[in-house]
Amino acid sequence: MTRIFWFRKDLRLQDNEALSSCCETAISDSDGSVLACYVYQKNDFERLSGIRQHSLTASLESLSLSISGSLEIAEGDPAFELVRLAKEHEAEYVYATESFDPAGIDQQQRVSAALEAVGKKLVLAGSNYAVRPGQVVKPTDGSAYRVYTPFYKAWFDIGWPPPFQLPAGIHWVRNKHTDLPKPTKDSLFRVRAGEAFAIETFDRFKKRALFDYSDNRNRADLSGTSKLSHALAHGEIHPRTLLADLRDTPGHNVFRKEIAWREFYADVLFRNPQTVNDYYVPRFAKMRYDKGKEAEKKLEIWKAGMTGFPMVDAGMRQLAREGWMHNRVRMIVASFLVKDLHLEWQVGADWFEQSLSDFDPASNSHGWQWTAGCGTDASPYYRVFNPILQGYKFDPNGNYVRKYIPELAHIQGSEVHEPWLLVDGLVNGYPEPMLDHSAERDESLRRLEEIKEK
Ligand code: FAD
Repeated sequence: MTRIFWFRKDLRLQDNEALSSCCETAISDSDGSVLACYVYQKNDFERLSGIRQHSLTASLESLSLSISGSLEIAEGDPAFELVRLAKEHEAEYVYATESFDPAGIDQQQRVSAALEAVGKKLVLAGSNYAVRPGQVVKPTDGSAYRVYTPFYKAWFDIGWPPPFQLPAGIHWVRNKHTDLPKPTKDSLFRVRAGEAFAIETFDRFKKRALFDYSDNRNRADLSGTSKLSHALAHGEIHPRTLLADLRDTPGHNVFRKEIAWREFYADVLFRNPQTVNDYYVPRFAKMRYDKGKEAEKKLEIWKAGMTGFPMVDAGMRQLAREGWMHNRVRMIVASFLVKDLHLEWQVGADWFEQSLSDFDPASNSHGWQWTAGCGTDASPYYRVFNPILQGYKFDPNGNYVRKYIPELAHIQGSEVHEPWLLVDGLVNGYPEPMLDHSAERDESLRRLEEIKEK
């Protein structure tokens, strides 16, 4: 009897708990036949940016190649398509990795109900996290942690099993439909993708940068981070595989803590599904934000990387060009949108969703809310990033800014962070700063006072 494995955000063969479990039962119960499938919806796919379309297609292509081209690609509603495939292959069970974000939960509930209606079953196993969201609780009363540091300690104490192995003896059922989703938008930048590339990337990171990770990870001008976020978001590598290789050194410990931020945000979103779009701290919804034509104009300037603040603009242009942005710079551009432009965090998060090849609903919504000051951090609204000082600190020689802003490539050293001070700083058409940062910082704090009074 054939079993179906429904790939979702777990586009890999190794260390895939649900896939291993599907294959083990297929081997022990019958001849090991497994139909591997992926289902996408055309409208959802076409809404993605060119970079996101191409990166997903590259991930799927690589996955299909790793099972000799046997990945069945279906286009349509997963509930309908999985019932169709289960009937066509006379499969009783469809296996998949469990999702914990609101859209994934809704999708798996609909698929499960549709399969059940025709006498078949969705078997959910594993997760895309080392520790399943919802599992970390306070020992005193079983409630959730709202703050990262105690969460980390409890998460670490729970621990995780060693990576799962894919059993030998699987017979991948030949597919009928192999057409990958067709990108409808162009992308000059090609994200390299796939499980083998993710493992290579991790091996390179271990040799090149992991040891110094705690010192270099905040430097936008250095290649000091793993760049594994795309692979983690698409499930080309599991965090367990990364954690299994970490030791007790400063670099390794900080890297483990960053992986845990991803797990913390997944847990927070699982317990507070409304926070994918809504304020984690509800009183921030009452704050005065700028709306209307002027606000829209400011948003477009931010998106285009033309604010006149080099560190902000370099980040926004890196995002447009590569579909990725350094974490420190994500915080700088997010703070600028909320606290200098006075726009709501959701409009920035929407743009990130469209543009990031590593888009993840939990890390994105809560990365934004943390920076905006309405998230899980205790008293952060007062923390307003100064985009100029952040530039001097995290791009001390100006190499990051020059790489992404050609209009400033003629300026040497750190002076690139304040080009308006130089006689020839703006000769190539780079704009003057669009606002006075210290005045907008004061305005932002005034608006905070208003909601405190209420
Ligand atoms: P590394 O420094 O090598 O870290 C390793 C892994 O740990 C990352 O790949 C990621 O999975 C995780 N991680 C590291 N830092 C964080 C963090 N602060 N929060 C959550 N996970 C973290 N990350 C996404 O994967 N998808 C998003 O959509 C996303 N949106 C963000 C939006 C904002 C406003 C901010 C401030 C952060 C966002 N992040 C997001 C988190 C972080 O910026 C990226 O994970 C990181 O830059 C990816 O680069 P890397 O793989 O080289 O990270």
